[in-house]
Amino acid sequence: MSEVLHIAFAGNPNAGKTTLFNHLTGAHQHVGNYPGVTVEKKEGVCTHSETATDIRVVDLPGTYSLTAYSVEELVARDYLVNERPDVVVNIVDASNLERNLYLTCQFIELGVPLVIALNMIDVAEKRGIRIDTDKLSELMGVPVLPIVARNGKGVPELLNTLISVSHAPARPQTLLRYGTDIDEALREIVPLIEEHKLLTDLYPARWTGLKILENDQQIVDRVMLANASVGQKLIDCGETLSQHLQDTIEAYPETVIADHRYGFVRSILRLGEVTRLSDQDRLYASDKIDKVVTDRFAGPLLMALVLFGLYSFTFNWSGFLVDWLGTLFELLGGTVDTLLPDGPLKSMIISGVIDGVGGVLGFVPIIMFMFFGIAVLEDSGYLARVAFMLDRIFHFFGLHGSSVMPFIISGGIAGGCAVPGVLAARTLRSPKERMATLLTVPFMNCGAKLPVLTLIIGAFFSTHQAKYMFLATLVTWLVALLVAKFLRMTVLKGESTPFVMELPPYRVPTLKGLSIHTWERTWQYIKKAGTVILGISILLWAMMTYPGLPADKASEFEAMRRGVASSTGDQAAELVRIDRLAAEEGLRSSFAGRIGTALEPISRYAGFDWRTNIALVGGFAAKEVIISTLGTAYSLGQGAAEDTTSLKDRLRADRRWNPVAALAFLFFIMFYSPCFVTVVAIAKEAGSWKWAFFSMGFNTLFAYLMAVAVFQAGTLLGMG
Ligand code: GDP
Ligand code: MG
Repeated sequence: MSEVLHIAFAGNPNAGKTTLFNHLTGAHQHVGNYPGVTVEKKEGVCTHSETATDIRVVDLPGTYSLTAYSVEELVARDYLVNERPDVVVNIVDASNLERNLYLTCQFIELGVPLVIALNMIDVAEKRGIRIDTDKLSELMGVPVLPIVARNGKGVPELLNTLISVSHAPARPQTLLRYGTDIDEALREIVPLIEEHKLLTDLYPARWTGLKILENDQQIVDRVMLANASVGQKLIDCGETLSQHLQDTIEAYPETVIADHRYGFVRSILRLGEVTRLSDQDRLYASDKIDKVVTDRFAGPLLMALVLFGLYSFTFNWSGFLVDWLGTLFELLGGTVDTLLPDGPLKSMIISGVIDGVGGVLGFVPIIMFMFFGIAVLEDSGYLARVAFMLDRIFHFFGLHGSSVMPFIISGGIAGGCAVPGVLAARTLRSPKERMATLLTVPFMNCGAKLPVLTLIIGAFFSTHQAKYMFLATLVTWLVALLVAKFLRMTVLKGESTPFVMELPPYRVPTLKGLSIHTWERTWQYIKKAGTVILGISILLWAMMTYPGLPADKASEFEAMRRGVASSTGDQAAELVRIDRLAAEEGLRSSFAGRIGTALEPISRYAGFDWRTNIALVGGFAAKEVIISTLGTAYSLGQGAAEDTTSLKDRLRADRRWNPVAALAFLFFIMFYSPCFVTVVAIAKEAGSWKWAFFSMGFNTLFAYLMAVAVFQAGTLLGMG
C-alpha cells in the first residue's frame, strides 16, 4: 500500500496555484466549499511514481497576507493550523518577488513546513530578472524550486523535494525581528503564552504573541476564551505598545510589523544579490536612498561621518550644561559642609551621597545629548543600515549580521547598556555565534562607562574630546571583533550561518518621538543613579571610612599636631599637611583600603595605585560606581578643607596620575569584567553560569594585560 502525502498550495492570487494544481491532478479533482463560507475548496490527488506516494493536494484561496481581515485569509490560515498539511507549497510569482515573499514571511512565522515553488520563471526571464535560487533558499531558510506551472517545467524536481522534505526533520525556524519596541514586547508576552500553554497546540507562541500585538481579532478572542486573565494581561501589553508606538513614531504595531517584514524581504533581495534587474528598476523612495546610503564605498564613509557628527554634537553642545551641573554639586557640597557639624553624617553626605551620586548625575547632559542623537539615527531607520553595512565585516570575525544590533544596543555608538544587548542576541540562531556575541557585547562603551571615559579624557586629553571619544569607540569595536574572532577560533569553533536582516523604510523622525525616546533612556539612567548607585555608593563609603585609623596611628598624628603647636614656621600649612596624611592613612587602613592595597602588587604593573583599585573593585557591581568611588576616595584622602575642587582637577593634580596611567586605566575600564547585572543576564541567556564566570575572568585578565601593555610601553617611551 502506498503512503499518502498531504500538501497544500498557498500564495498570492494569480501566482499560478490553480495552474499548477490542474497540471498535477488533471481530472482527479473535487470542488466544494469550506464549511460555513462561500470560499471554494479544491482538492485533488496525484501520484509520485518513483516513491509510489499518493499525494493529496489542496489549492488554498489566494491571499496577500494572513491577517483576520478577510475570509480567504482566515480560511487559509485555519486550514494550515487545523489540518496540518505535511508540506505547504508556497507558490511565488518570480516576476513579483517582493510582494510575494511578504506572504512567505508569514508562513515562516507560522512555523509550517515550507517549500517555495518559484513560478513564472519564464515571465521573469523575459523581463530580465535573474534570481539566484540557491542564495534565496539559503537566506530564507526554505527550499526554493524554480518552475513554470504552465508547461510543467521543474515540476518533477518540485515533487522530489516535497517527498524528501516530508521525511526530513524540521528545520530551525528563521526568526524575524520587528524593531526594539516590538521585540521587547514579544520578550515580555511570549514567555507568558508558553507558561500558560495558550493555544500552543495550534500556533507557535511567538506567532500568537505577534498576532496579539497586531490586534488580530480571531486570536485575541481565542486567547480570551482559553484564559481570560492572562489574555487580558497580554492585551494590555499590546495596548501599551500600541500607545507607545503612536506617541513616538505615529504608527500602529501592525504597520511597524509589516514594515519589518518588507524590510526583511528587501534586505534578502538586495544583500543576497538574489535578483538582478537588467533595466529600469522600480525604486521606492527608501530604495533610492539606500542605493546611496549603503553603497559599498559611499556607505561606510557616510557612516563614519554620521558617527563622528554624533560625537561632535554630543560633546560640543552639552559642555556648558555639564559645567553648570558640576558647579551646582560643588555648591551643594559646600553648603552641606558649612551647615552640618563635622562627623560621620557629614562625611557620608558629602563623600558618599553628593560626590557619589553627583558624580554620576553630572553626566546626565552628555548622556541625554548622546541618546538624542541615537534616537535620531534609530527612528529614521539609519541604524538598521549601519547594521546592514557592518554584516560583511562581522562575518569575517566569526560573528553574524544579527550580532550588530546587540553591539549597537550595548553601546556600540556609546551610551547603551549591555543588559538589553545580551537579550537582543536571542535572534541569533547559531549557538556559537550567539555565545561569541554574548561574550563580546559587554566590551561596548555603555552608558555607565561613558562618564568614566569622559572624565578621564576630559582630565588628561581635554583638547580633542570628541575625537578621543570617537577613537575610543573604534578601539572598542576593533577589540570586540578581534576577541570574537579569537573565541570563534578557539573555545567557540564552528560554522557560520547566512545573514538576513530587516531594513525598514526611512521615516522622518518626529520631535515628539525623539523627545520621548531620549527622555525614557535618560530617566532610566537617572533612576539607576538614585537607587542602585546610591546604595552601592553609601556601602563603599562605609567600607572606605571604617574601621578608621588604628589607635596607635591616631595618637601618632595627635603627637605631630601638638609638635606643630610648639614650633615656629607656618603652622596652618603644616596642620593641613598632617590632616591630609591622617586622612590618607585612615583610608588606607579602611576595609576598602586594605583590599586596594592587597591588590597593589598586581595592579602596579598597570599603573593603578590602591585608590584606583578600590574604584575598580566597586566597578564590578556597576561601572557608574567607578566615578563615584574615585570621587569618594579622592575627597576622603584630601582632607575636608579643600573639598570643593572637582574630581577632574584633583586627578590632574595627583602625582600618581599622568596621561599614560590614564590611558592604561581607560583600557582597563573598557574591557574588564561586565557589571554584575550583565553577568547575571549572560548566565541566564547562556543557560549556565559557566559562561558568565568565563566572561568575568576572561575579560578581566584580558583588560589587565591590555592595561599593563599600555602602561609599560608608555612609561618606556617616556610619555608618563
Ligand atoms: P492562482 O490565482 O494562483 O490560482 O493563479 P492561476 O493559476 O489562476 O494563474 C494566473 C495566471 O497566470 C493564469 O493566466 C495562468 O495561465 C498564468 N500562469 C500560471 N503559471 C504560469 C507560468 O509559469 N508562466 C506563465 N507565463 N504564466 C503562468
Ligand atoms: Mg486559483
